[in-house]
Amino acid sequence: MEPCIFCAIAKKESPATLEYEDEDVVAFWDVNPKAKVHILIVPKKHIPSITQLKEGDEILIGKMVMVAKKLAEKKGIAEDGYRLCINAGKHSGQVVEHIHLHLMGGGPMGSMA
Ligand code: AMP
Ligand code: ZN
Repeated sequence: MEPCIFCAIAKKESPATLEYEDEDVVAFWDVNPKAKVHILIVPKKHIPSITQLKEGDEILIGKMVMVAKKLAEKKGIAEDGYRLCINAGKHSGQVVEHIHLHLMGGGPMGSMA
């Protein structure tokens, strides 16, 4: 298996600016931020993509969303709003093949309508 950068960050083998950690999840700043606040919420378990989720993984995904909600409050962007995004597969532009939830905010994101 190819070395995975997000597994390495979760194991503290690679540096990152951590914002949150528990037994299942780590959250750290995106190294190339696309918003004033851009934090990645990442499961410690290596799952390459949403396309490869299995029955039972919904608990982990739900936990990631809850961590994002709390981090948005901690960073002071909850009131004005923020975007949560998970890229999945080639057409989405997913680059890192380890599931991650983007939390982006701190300014207007532009409408998707
Ligand atoms: P995606 O296109 O959804 O796969 O997004 C991958 C994101 O991971 C991009 O926004 C990258 O800037 C970010 N990224 C890649 N390597 C690192 C790293 N070592 N530390 C923090 N963020 C990273
Ligand atoms: Zn991984």
